[in-house]
Formats: sequence, structure tokens, C-alpha cells
Amino acid sequence: MRRNSRVVRIGGVKIGGAYPIAVQSMTKTDTRNVSETVSQISELEDAGCEIIRVAVPDREAAEAIKEIKKRIRIPLIADIHFDPRLAMLSILNGADKIRLNPSNIEDKEWIEKIARLANERNVPIRVGANLGSFRKKPDNVIFALVSTVLNEIRILNDANFDNIVVSIKTSDVLQTIAANRKIAEVIDYPIHLGVTEAGPLEESLIKSSAGIGVLLMEGIGDTIRYSISDKPIKEVEAAFTLLKSLHLRERGITIVSCPTCGRCEIDLFSLVKRVKKDFGNVKVPVKVAIMGCVVNGPGEAKDADIGIAGGKKSGVIFKKGKIIKTVSEENLYSEFKKELEKLIEEKSNSS
Ligand code: SF4
Repeated sequence: MRRNSRVVRIGGVKIGGAYPIAVQSMTKTDTRNVSETVSQISELEDAGCEIIRVAVPDREAAEAIKEIKKRIRIPLIADIHFDPRLAMLSILNGADKIRLNPSNIEDKEWIEKIARLANERNVPIRVGANLGSFRKKPDNVIFALVSTVLNEIRILNDANFDNIVVSIKTSDVLQTIAANRKIAEVIDYPIHLGVTEAGPLEESLIKSSAGIGVLLMEGIGDTIRYSISDKPIKEVEAAFTLLKSLHLRERGITIVSCPTCGRCEIDLFSLVKRVKKDFGNVKVPVKVAIMGCVVNGPGEAKDADIGIAGGKKSGVIFKKGKIIKTVSEENLYSEFKKELEKLIEEKSNSS
């Protein structure tokens, strides 16, 4: 069962409570370069990204938020470290949320100023702990992470601020799980999940899915981000694949395809690649099965909205549980594509 967290509004997106688990990513451009940043955000919006974070290392980046905000549709989080002036400026320039650790700000008057402005504008603040930010590795990592977050919350609460989201991240899957379980027991603020610095694509997909997946299945987590040393669009695609596979969200194409074996007599891998390439940006939920032979093929293909079961240099196309045609391998993809396009149109019209 989903943990009962408070609802927090980030621009037009609500998180926490029973709201859908939101998908986040972070731009990898120089925020000061408005056109590159906006173009990366637009690509992420098309892929389904619901909240975007940008780094704000200096004044120019904080100023750029104003122009970026005019040209994007999703809420923007300003990621700030140490400098309270950048937090104030980012809020004034339209940031929908701030990522900031108040314990990094020595002058407590600044914290009060930020809290006052954020309250006035209904801008939440995400506080967090990241193992990488400890100068020395603590003896008890979980305790140190949880107490750090509780301390950040206390500083904001003392400044009369309660519109908070929390996150605890480490690059270790088990630590991330243990620390989030612990913090989820003692606070009711929404939790942003991620395995941080999770590495290149293949490694991160596995580590992040293991860490985030376990927590989501325990009802913990209100927004997620895959951290991947690769294009940010991969983060969004991975996040949706996880949420779909846990039946927490529905979006776009879900491909059921077999690994193939000695029974397969069609080029199944290229069919799968072509479906992914041509239909990867579809928004309506569609389950597609691409199966190599008659052993499991017809069963899976019938269970999907549409599917192929391979035969001898040919394939049978199924739609909504019924065989609609048998096609030679040469024409298999073009015929399948036509049927899939028709199906997507039908689904879009009825949604
Ligand atoms: S569906 Fe057929 S080709 Fe694919 S793995 Fe199973 S037995 Fe092999």
C-alpha cells in the first residue's frame, strides 16, 4: 500500500498522497545557454518528463530561469548549493521548486528570507542527504543520512517553513533502500527517489530499478529520477518503463518480445528495434507482442493489443485476440506498422 504522504504542489504538478508517481529528470546543458536548455527540456517533455531540474551554479544561470520558464510546459526545479542569493533569485525568476540544503547556509537570516519568499510564492523546497556530500564516510551511514535530513527539515521548520520534499540518495542500492525505509517511518513529507551516480546506462538501469523498484513496491516514493551517465531522455524512458512494469503508471508502447531461440525463423530483433524507433513517442498505452514462433507466440500475441507470432519466414498478425492476417517476412513490418498505426488512432480517439 502507498505510504500516506502529504501533498505538495510543484507548479502544475501535485505529488504525494495518492497522486501518480511523477517522473523527473535533470538537464545536462549549461543552464546559462537558454536555447540548448529549452531544447533539451522540450525533448524530455515529449518523452513524458513531468518535472525538470536545472543546475544553478551562478547568477547568470538563476537569471536564465526567467526565459527558460517562458518556453517550457513542465515545472522547473532550481538546484542550488551554498549561495542563498541564488535561491532568492531563482524563486523571483519563476522556479517552481528549489533544491537546497539549509545547513549549507551559515547566515540564518538568509534561511528566513528564503523561507518567507518561498511561502509567499508557494514554492516547495527539497532537502536531502547524499552520501557523496559527507567529507568523511560516517560509521553508521544510514543513521548519518537520516539525521542529516531530519536536521535540514528542522532548520526549515524553525524558519516557519513546511512545504518540503525530501530525498536520500547514495550510489549503493542497499543503503538507498535502508535509508529511505527509515526516513519514511518518521516523516510524512513526499519522498523523491533515486540511486545517485548510478553509472552508465546498463549499470544504472539495473541499480536504479532494483533500488527504486523495491521502495515503490513498499509504497515509498512520490517522484523518481534515474541517474544515468547518458542522455537525459534515457532517464525518462527508464523511469516510465519501471512504473509501467510495476503497474503504477500507464504510458506509450509496452513491448513484449521473446529472446528468440533455435525455433525462431524471422529477424525478430530488427522488428523490435523498428517498433521502438517508430512508436517510441506514442503517448496512449498500447501493449505490443513480438514473438518468434508458435510455442509462446500466439498466446502472448493474443494477450496484447496487437502482436506478431513468427512462422517460417512469415508471421501471423493478431489484433485484440484475433488473427487478422498472415504475411511473408518481407512485408511483415510494413503490414504490422499499418495495423499498429490504425490501433493507436482508434485508442487516441477514444481516450
Ligand atoms: S517464442 Fe519461440 S522463438 Fe521465441 S523464445 Fe519462445 S520458443 Fe523460442
